[in-house]
Amino acid sequence: MKAINFSHYRKIVVLTGAGVSVASGIRPFRGKGGLWNEINPIEYADSSLLKTNPRAIWQLDGALRKQLATAQPNVAHIKLAQFEAKLSPDKQFTLITQNIDGLHQLAGSSNVIEIHGNVCRTRCSNPTCNLTAYLDSNPYDDVLPICQICSSPLRPDIVLFGEHLPVKEEWLTKRALRDCDLFIAIGTSGTVYPASGFVRSADYAGARTILINLEPMEPKNPYFKEEYLGAAEEIVPLLFGATS
Ligand SMILES: [Zn+2]
Repeated sequence: MKAINFSHYRKIVVLTGAGVSVASGIRPFRGKGGLWNEINPIEYADSSLLKTNPRAIWQLDGALRKQLATAQPNVAHIKLAQFEAKLSPDKQFTLITQNIDGLHQLAGSSNVIEIHGNVCRTRCSNPTCNLTAYLDSNPYDDVLPICQICSSPLRPDIVLFGEHLPVKEEWLTKRALRDCDLFIAIGTSGTVYPASGFVRSADYAGARTILINLEPMEPKNPYFKEEYLGAAEEIVPLLFGATS
């Protein structure tokens, strides 16, 4: 496997999914070993719970917060951050992530779009409340946190089932994809949304399109023209070996 010659590309977009964080001890939600094989997302991650049982959302996300208190970025996160830091100023690099663990930022990545939010931020569940989302490590094991301004329950700042992607992040993603010339999806299935939609846009823009994932695409997504099978922490250092 040869490193990508990045000198050919000016607008690079990388999309990361759960496979990037597995080596940091963060379990994926879907697929092999996924959390949704054991618990029902409808009972812990559905937007209807905000009204019926918000504590259930905190049960799951509070546990993740506890895990993230000690989780460290792995070599895939670190390599992507180093790549961004070394990139010449005439190039653009956008890192879109489906992960809610904040490990890319912890590794030093700066231009990160979190399309599914960040579990370590808390915000108000009332959409008209003007409480600003804030970083928070409290797992709220014992008590449902309540907004100081409007007395609604507080919630983790993530996209629950049944919710739209956040509008700013979706807009930034579309803007990055519409004129990218290299698109690399890492540790995410190439066949389900959003990766499947993003690669379609990138291909339409004329980008080279690459998928790096443990499992082969099933069914094959024709918009990904290259596929590298393996763990993110093994493949990313090989493909991102040379930076220019
Ligand atoms: Zn509020």
